[in-house]
Amino acid sequence: MEFEAVIGLEIHVELNCVTKMFCDCPNHPGDQPNANTCPTCLWLPGALPRLSQEALEKASLLSLGLGAELQPRSAFDQKIYYYPDLPKGFQLSQIHLPLSRGGGIDILDEDGVTRKLRIHHIHMEEDVAKLVHEMEGRLPVGLVDFNRAGAPLVEIVTEPDFRTPYQAMEFLKTLRTRVRYVGSSDCNMDDGTMRADANISIRPRGTDQMNTKVEVKNMNSVRHVGDAISYEIARQTAAVQADEAVILHTRLWDPDKKATLPMRAKFEGPCVPDPCVPAIELSPAWIEQMRTRLPEMPTERGERLTAQHGLTREEALSLSADPEVAAYFDALVARGIAPRTAMHWLTTQLIPAVRERRQDLNTSPVAPERLAALLDLLAKDEINANAAREVLVEMFGCDEAPEAIVARRGFKQISDADALDPLIDKVLTEQARAVADFQSGQVKALGFLVGRVMQASGGKADPKVIRELLDEKLGAG
Ligand SMILES: [Zn+2]
Repeated sequence: MEFEAVIGLEIHVELNCVTKMFCDCPNHPGDQPNANTCPTCLWLPGALPRLSQEALEKASLLSLGLGAELQPRSAFDQKIYYYPDLPKGFQLSQIHLPLSRGGGIDILDEDGVTRKLRIHHIHMEEDVAKLVHEMEGRLPVGLVDFNRAGAPLVEIVTEPDFRTPYQAMEFLKTLRTRVRYVGSSDCNMDDGTMRADANISIRPRGTDQMNTKVEVKNMNSVRHVGDAISYEIARQTAAVQADEAVILHTRLWDPDKKATLPMRAKFEGPCVPDPCVPAIELSPAWIEQMRTRLPEMPTERGERLTAQHGLTREEALSLSADPEVAAYFDALVARGIAPRTAMHWLTTQLIPAVRERRQDLNTSPVAPERLAALLDLLAKDEINANAAREVLVEMFGCDEAPEAIVARRGFKQISDADALDPLIDKVLTEQARAVADFQSGQVKALGFLVGRVMQASGGKADPKVIRELLDEKLGAG
């Protein structure tokens, strides 16, 4: 019998707010342990949580960016359980009335077909504290750091629309891009600002039954999600074929063992409406105002790049995947750089150079106006591409204008025929064999001769002019 998987995802995204969700403590979990705490996030007697406007706005923008419908009324519940990282005994979360419902993401599937993977709802919740396990001499100790307690989170819960690990991975990548575009989170799985759980079950292919699922929790890379789902599908298929029952439980992905392992589930108690935080009422006017704050999203941006600049779908998608890259590209084109040149220099030269230096495209010393000035020199044939690459490297280490670097380093291209003529004649005399090859029809020999003249000019000659002059001389000969 052939089986297919039924997979749903639950994704936690930490919002990049200035403060925590219900108090004014800085939202900096990485600071000195317990530096960012107050009676509210420690839940001392008399504490009164108050929802941060920034968290509400960022969660709303995120919802709209994923095509979800903001609900006119949502509210917080107390998810009751006791755990050392949650000494107040409950977590504030929107269980019954989430912030938004619906929405989804279109992905390009493995078979080349575009598929919509639907979102069930998106809710807000507060993060819990962090447990730190250490040795104090020979005694193991458990410490609690409350810097993260009360940090603003959203949870995106999908429909069980996924059938393959590939779909889950593509969904996560697209989700990350869209959330970065709206600016609500960095969605960096490495530093934990995005974490994913997957619910996985299998069924005979072609049926629509929903079988017992297994939850794999807290995965912190897109690849781990793909690997864990593949592992679970194989494990459950083997169990069913051996007539063993799949039991409802929670597992963890162990990237070293490349396996999911059963984990002891936390006791989850009841869930009751929270009496302290007022319900959130969103007016149609407020929702509309949020919608006007949405930037151009990656899919639309990609379509615009294809239509306006004649880029292919793949080129446009790769540029629009990262909002910083897309904005940089727009800035180059706005300064009159040809779109394809802009794309080529951005993706093959600038981005690798920025990454190599561990810098950010936004804050690197090579701002769009500087790169545009350099590409302008190239377009006007004042320097050749080799020189342009060298100037670019220098631009990282100084704030001189590209023109000044070209002048200082003597990179100005020689495109004057009178200056090149003697160099060409010398090369033609020295390379009689290559000349003969070319004249007997070996076209490759021309490239060799161009290279020799280039070398003789110290790399400064304009290859186009060399080619023209060579054509003239050899054609005549
Ligand atoms: Zn606080």
